[in-house]
Amino acid sequence: MLSTMQDGALSIARILRQGSGPHGSAEIVTWTGAEPRRTTYAQIGRRAAQLAHALRGLGITGDDRVGTFMWNNAEHVEAYYAVPSMGAVLHTLNIRLFPEQLVYMADHAQDRVILVDATLLPLFGKILPQLREVRHVIVVGGDASAIEAPAGVEVHDYEQLLAGQPEEFAWPDVDERSAAAMCYTSGTTGNPKGVVYSHRSIYLHSMQVCMTDGMALGQTDRALAVVPMFHVLSWGLPYAAPMVGASIIMPERFLQPEPLVRMIVSEQATMAAAVPTIWQGVLQQLEAQPEDISSLREVVVGGSACPPSLMRDFEEKYDVPVLHAWGMTETSPLGSVARPPAGVDEEQRWAYRRSQGRLSTSVRARLVDDTDHELPWDGSSVGELEVAGPWITGSYYGEDDPEKFHDGWLRTGDVGYITPDGFLNLTDRSKDVIKSGGEWISSVELENLVMGHPAVAEALVIGVPDEKWSERPLVAVVLREGHAADAAELREFVAEKVARWQVPDYWTFVAEAPKTSVGKFDKKRLRKQHADGELD
Ligand code: ADP
Repeated sequence: MLSTMQDGALSIARILRQGSGPHGSAEIVTWTGAEPRRTTYAQIGRRAAQLAHALRGLGITGDDRVGTFMWNNAEHVEAYYAVPSMGAVLHTLNIRLFPEQLVYMADHAQDRVILVDATLLPLFGKILPQLREVRHVIVVGGDASAIEAPAGVEVHDYEQLLAGQPEEFAWPDVDERSAAAMCYTSGTTGNPKGVVYSHRSIYLHSMQVCMTDGMALGQTDRALAVVPMFHVLSWGLPYAAPMVGASIIMPERFLQPEPLVRMIVSEQATMAAAVPTIWQGVLQQLEAQPEDISSLREVVVGGSACPPSLMRDFEEKYDVPVLHAWGMTETSPLGSVARPPAGVDEEQRWAYRRSQGRLSTSVRARLVDDTDHELPWDGSSVGELEVAGPWITGSYYGEDDPEKFHDGWLRTGDVGYITPDGFLNLTDRSKDVIKSGGEWISSVELENLVMGHPAVAEALVIGVPDEKWSERPLVAVVLREGHAADAAELREFVAEKVARWQVPDYWTFVAEAPKTSVGKFDKKRLRKQHADGELD
């Protein structure tokens, strides 16, 4: 029998209505380097309507794709709401990828219109002539005449386009399963892969972000969204915040540690979300120039394993708890969040917090071995993690990838174990595990140990070919400013904590760690640097 419940679609327009209505006075603050720009969800709602009218005027109908090539700012939020609410599909382009990848993604997604921040025009200008599907470029926050339009493409100024448009839009009813937004993930091999989020998946995921045992986002929060809006929808913050009336602080292009600390202090941020390397930088900045960051109730760290030393430093020096979370572009991204259960002692509490966290109700998970046999959640059996659920992608856009998807499960490429009470502990990515003499060495465990040394700011570990053992670990170390340590000292430091055969043989000191387009350690590049003989 069917229920008697109504069937209201879980849509982006529903979030927008709540945001621009009851939560209309919550703020979106955009950093400018000088006086920040301030707007409210009420204004965002009016301008999203204007943008939707303008896009209709440019011929956007049905599920046409509208790309963005933008920083985190208020106008980007306007696009986040206007595009899906009118029934079209938002495609956030990762501004940090190589031009050929960007061209591939915009063409593959068939972006008809692209909104571009004026400060990014020099970069965008390099790819525009190669884009086959784009008909309109909308320049946000600057001089539209600064870019030359190729034949068949019109360039517009954002503000001129919005001016005079009605401030209300009759948002159409959408099927909640239809596409709302898409992101490409760079992948390890081949072309970037498209993940398409639905209205429903974004809505449900946003509720998870707000749950107490999610990111606990609420109406009294002022969330600093450091994680880019072009990277997994800024971990869902721009969609979750209007749901509950939390204000958002958008760093724009000011992503260096010094302005980030200023944003936290002057805007009294209560929570902030970013990858570990950002937080390492913030810690170093605070060490050089102490500030009161006690407005933060919590910082969320994910995207790669959070070094325990980073958690301890934040908590012990600044009394700010670090919340460790795991996810992927394919998982919207929130998969698990590490909040310890009640009734545990201090040591257990830390063990829970260091883990990748408890998998949420909506994320089914299992571990499999090399022969696809399911492994128990016993806290010690190590296998590859597979996940399934309403905000986990079931395929890549326009591509078959049987390696990644099978029987309704997504193979994550992450390796680890799960405790009986559902806490995920990742030991590595399958491609980063070091295979030494038939044994596996966790690159993440070694990195965390080395980063626990007081002289070390960052450490990356990769396996390098070895005739006898097949692979051996190599550590690339970035020292903290004003600190010194040599390989012998670090080797000894690690040797006290791991089995002898796990102690890295090769150590190299680098001025800067190679990072990916979203600020994670770039091991692929480090491997290439090693292969090309560029490391000492
Ligand atoms: P990319 O592959 O470009 O980094 P994603 O942002 O989708 O794209 O990365 C997802 C991957 O990041 C996960 O599969 C996992 O390997 C890693 N990851 C994310 N969060 C964590 C975490 N808390 N601990 C360890 N690894 C993590």
